[in-house]
Formats: sequence, structure tokens, C-alpha cells
Amino acid sequence: MTATGAVWRNWGRTEAVKPARVERPSSTAAVQRAVIAAAKSGMRIKAVGAGHSFSGIAVAGGVQLDLHALRGILSVDTSRLQVTFAGGTFLHEIPHLLKPFGLAMQNLGDIDRQTISGAISTGTHGTGREFGGISTQVVGAVLVIGDGTVLTVSESENAELLPAVALGLGALGILVEVTLQCVPAFVLHATEAAEPLDEVLAALDARVAAVDHFEFYWFPHTKTALTKTNVRLPAHAPRKPLSGLRRFIDDDLVANQLFRVTCLAGRTVPAVIPHINRAAERLIGTREFTDLSARVFSTKRTVRFVEMEYAVPAADVPSVVRAIDELIESHGWRISFPIEVRFAAADEVWLSTASGRETGYIAVHRYYRDDPAEYFRAVEEIMMAHGGRPHWGKMNTRDAESLREVYPHFDEFVAVRDRLDPERRFTNGYLEKVIGR
Ligand SMILES: Cc1cc2nc3c(=O)[nH]c(=O)nc-3n(C[C@H](O)[C@H](O)[C@H](O)COP(=O)(O)OP(=O)(O)OC[C@H]3O[C@@H](n4cnc5c(N)ncnc54)[C@H](O)[C@@H]3O)c2cc1C
Repeated sequence: MTATGAVWRNWGRTEAVKPARVERPSSTAAVQRAVIAAAKSGMRIKAVGAGHSFSGIAVAGGVQLDLHALRGILSVDTSRLQVTFAGGTFLHEIPHLLKPFGLAMQNLGDIDRQTISGAISTGTHGTGREFGGISTQVVGAVLVIGDGTVLTVSESENAELLPAVALGLGALGILVEVTLQCVPAFVLHATEAAEPLDEVLAALDARVAAVDHFEFYWFPHTKTALTKTNVRLPAHAPRKPLSGLRRFIDDDLVANQLFRVTCLAGRTVPAVIPHINRAAERLIGTREFTDLSARVFSTKRTVRFVEMEYAVPAADVPSVVRAIDELIESHGWRISFPIEVRFAAADEVWLSTASGRETGYIAVHRYYRDDPAEYFRAVEEIMMAHGGRPHWGKMNTRDAESLREVYPHFDEFVAVRDRLDPERRFTNGYLEKVIGR
């Protein structure tokens, strides 16, 4: 199906484009035809997922491919717990799809609105010292590459390409199938608590090592961290989910609606932000619940924001957080959004932000109507001093030259791209900047 493009906007409203053409292929052959047709007319072509990247990575000014018709499970290897999904499958569809097989995804980020291909293409991750981002769950993929042919990558076919294809930035081809290593379904016991930030930072290494999934949020202008600790339990462990009302009050009313009011008030009178943040800190209480993994990992985000997130060596996290605190206070900025801190295991995916090192993630946010430039740029300086690697799907000002220095496998990735997309059919302005022309 083909249509002329309406204006496409990403979730964070940082990017907009009117594609020359939108195509909605419903088979791999149709994706191949779209790539070949784009090549014949000298156009670029790009698949978009859910548009949840804040960076310009998904901007498709030529042919935009919408893979809504390519969703669901294609095959299940029950002995190896490996499941192949069509490339357009949304993360929020996966728990239901995996349920009949008693399986789950090993780890997830904090929302589930993205597509599997979009999530792996930018290095979407959750938290947990022993766990990598979603790309580390990828054991195979099928792509339509620059010349329109189909390339299968798996442990037995073209295996040498897996560390590139598992996190390909959308630069290597159109993902029509993604195979994930799943795990037996499990539940998570979650504990959320407000704790003194200094104490959390002082014992951070031990806290992260002690549990499966540890993260915290810190509201600038306060001395309190909201810690989130998730412990993995077998599927048959008794569940004590949050009641619908509690979920609504805490996650919808407090986390989203009240927060929306804070952001709007903070825009008019920035001086109120520290007071509101301190009030928010008092509203956040301790809560414990046990539920299916995907229900605990994912939350709702209805207040629109923009975000920059950097990966730094895990051991550097306390000093980076303290430096951001000093930066905000010394400039007298009023920041309503919390800073989010997460962790991941070192992995072997070439362009993974955790490639080759135990990683801490530090994310800064601003309300989408506020100008983030000055704050983000100053925080980025701090991150760069710690060898930081920006999340590919979040805002950053880096270029290929500077990123090459922090990714040991950068040139290997570029060589794979030269092979799979020599004519740069899948590139766009953002990719030209971060990986070169
Ligand atoms: C509210 C919110 C919460 C978030 N939480 C997290 C989080 O917890 N952890 C985290 O790491 N990130 C998080 N992100 C970032 C988000 O996960 C990533 O930006 C992710 O890439 C978005 O997926 P998407 O499906 O929207 O992809 P898009 O943004 O639409 O596309 C991303 C890239 O994938 C490519 N792509 C999409 N489909 C295909 C395909 N079939 N074949 C080839 N390339 C393809 C696109 O071309 C583009 O290059 C969050 C973002 C938002 C807005």
C-alpha cells in the first residue's frame, strides 16, 4: 500500500518530516519491492517504528516504511527458547504473544510502546548489572539490504554480522524478522522507596550488585532518591499486584497528571520548581508489589518530554550525578524533571552503549515545551569527560569523529554498512552525522 506522506512527528516533538511517500508493505517481498523501487528512483528509504526516538534517527524524508502489517510471532524454537517476531511487532504485544509458550523477554526498558526493531536499532535498555540491553537478546535477524536482497543473520548463517545487526541504527537494512533469546516467564518483586541521595550514592556499587534490577530517580533541588529494586522470582511465586486504584493514583495521577501540572506551573514561574520537587519527594512513598515481569518493567509516560541519556563506566556514576547537581545549582537552573540512573552489564554488540564495559546510564529530561539546549549541552560536557556514549535514540550533539573514539568497534560497523548499504539507501541526516556519509 502506498500513500503520499502526511507530516510525521516523533513522540518528543523534536523532529518532523513530510515523507515523499509512505509505504505499508505486508510481506518481505513487498519490502524488497519498496527498496528496489526507491533505488530505481534514487530515493532514500527508512522504516519507522513507534517514533519514540528523540534524536533524528527515524526521520525519513524519502520513502517511509510503516511496518504495521508485519507483526506477531513467526516461529518458536521451544527447545532453545528462541522466538522470531515480525519486524513491526510492538513491545507491548510481546508478553501476550509469549504467554502460551510460558516465555518472557529477559529485560525491558521503562515503557513498552516501541517496536522490537526500533528498540534494538537504538540500543534500548532497562536496568540490571547482570543484564544487557534488548539488543543482547537478539540471536538472529532477517533484513532487506541495500540491493533489495534478503540477508539472514543467525548463529549459523552470517554469524559474524550479528554484533552489527543486533544494533544497526536502521543503517544496515530493513529488519523484517528479529529472533530473540527468551527466558521462562518470571515475576518481579518490586520495592520502591524514597532514600537520601547521598546514602544511595555512597553505597551504589553494593546496591547495584545486591539485586537483579536497581535504578533510581533523583529530583534536582532535593536530596532524595526514589529507588526501584526488582528481584526476579519464578513464575509460580505468589503475585501481589498493585490494585488498579493504587496504580491509577501513583502512576497516573501522581507520576503523570500531577507532574504535567508541575511542568506547566514551572514554565510560568520557574522559581516554584524546587518547592514542587520537594513536595513531590514527600508524595513518593514506599510501595511493594509482585507481578508479571512486563507489568513491573513498563510504566506509562503521558507527560511529553525530551531526553538526553549517556552511558558512562558504572563506577563513575556517583561523580557524574554530583557534578550534575553542582551544575544545576551553580547556574540557578530550575529543573522539574528527575534524573534517571540505571545500569547494564558489559556486552559485545559493536555499537551498544555498554559495549565492552560495565555501564551506568544517566538520563536528563526537560518538558517538551522547554528549551533543553543549554542544560543538555552542559551535562553532555560532563558525560564526555567520563568517556560517555550517547543513547542513539536520544538527543545528543556528537559526530562520527568523536564517537569513533569511544567505540572500539566503530570502524567494523562502518565496514559492514559499506557492504550492506553501499549506496546509502537507508541513511538520513542524523546517521550522516553520527556514523558518517
Ligand atoms: C517515553 C519514552 C520512554 C523511553 N524509555 C526508554 C528506556 O527505558 N530505555 C531506553 O533505552 N530507551 C527508551 N526510550 C527510547 C526508545 O526506546 C528508543 O528511541 C527506540 O528506538 C524507540 O523505538 P521505536 O519503535 O519508536 O523506533 P523509532 O524511533 O521509530 O526508530 C528508531 C530507529 O529504528 C529504525 N527502525 C525502526 N524499525 C525498523 C526496521 N523494521 N528495520 C530497520 N530499522 C528500523 C528507524 O529507522 C530508526 O533508525 C524511550 C523513549 C520514550 C519516548
